[in-house]
Amino acid sequence: RVTSEDVATPSKTKEILKRHDLVLKKSLGQNFLIDHNILHKIVSAAELGPDKGALEIGPGIGALTQQLAKLAGRVLAIEIDQRLLPILGETLEPYPHATVVHGDVLKLDLPELFRQHFAGVDGVSVVANLPYYITTPIIMKLLEEKLPLENIVVMIQKEVADRMAARPGTKDYGSLSIAVQFHCEAELVTIVPRTVFVPQPNVDSAVIRLRVRKTPPVEVADEAFFFEVVQASFVQRRKTIYNNLAARFFTKETKSELETLLLANNIDPQRRGETLSMEEYARLSSALLARGCK
Ligand code: SAM
Repeated sequence: RVTSEDVATPSKTKEILKRHDLVLKKSLGQNFLIDHNILHKIVSAAELGPDKGALEIGPGIGALTQQLAKLAGRVLAIEIDQRLLPILGETLEPYPHATVVHGDVLKLDLPELFRQHFAGVDGVSVVANLPYYITTPIIMKLLEEKLPLENIVVMIQKEVADRMAARPGTKDYGSLSIAVQFHCEAELVTIVPRTVFVPQPNVDSAVIRLRVRKTPPVEVADEAFFFEVVQASFVQRRKTIYNNLAARFFTKETKSELETLLLANNIDPQRRGETLSMEEYARLSSALLARGCK
């Protein structure tokens, strides 16, 4: 339900920015949402409720934060730009269960913030319109720190969303697809036109939902080494899996062993990294680990 406090309209957003004499910073990815349909799609995808928590990264002037606070029992919003704090104080005034923390999400101790703000909450989701210049580092930090998350519902650059959700054998499939899909089930929620932001960004956007898995879809003995093998396989996309892995893990003298190892694992050495499934990468990394390639 849209209420009179809601800031996500073009006129309210412009009025607030003018009253606070605020010039938005491109360098911080400040493109604010001004469309209630899109906000509604984002918050619905997050499956919030009074017993749930929401972590927002980059609340801006609070357009999404207000909608999260209407649905979730606890909201924590992390904002880097100090100039926005007094505005957030105003826009979130009706929602005492929403807290703003000032800081850089990439530097903050998120497990500690979770302990402080989400104790007793039955499941937390990240819901955000992310600053596009650091989308991948933010997602990787959330996943690698193994925070107890249910969903990650984020608005990101469409091209990055396509890469996160890509299936093997497509042009968008790469190490980011595998990293994300190892930890989550990825699903594109909606594509978003540039016109719903102030100012308009010069890229297309999409909302993606990542349902965080309780256990990975494939078994790997050494997670760090699994990702090392995946990274190595995409170093030169146009090269074969054989050439990429030989360059990373073998010498001129030992190279022929790689061909035998690939064939023994039912992987044609002439295939390219972008055609291998996550199961095949799991098999491959176990074989390389057993061969002492770590
Ligand atoms: N949530 C608001 C909305 O949807 O209108 C604003 C989204 S805007 C795309 C991104 C926000 O992230 C900005 O408010 C920006 O200041 C903030 N931001 C940028 N870098 C950040 C960082 N490293 N840590 C926390 N917030 C950051």
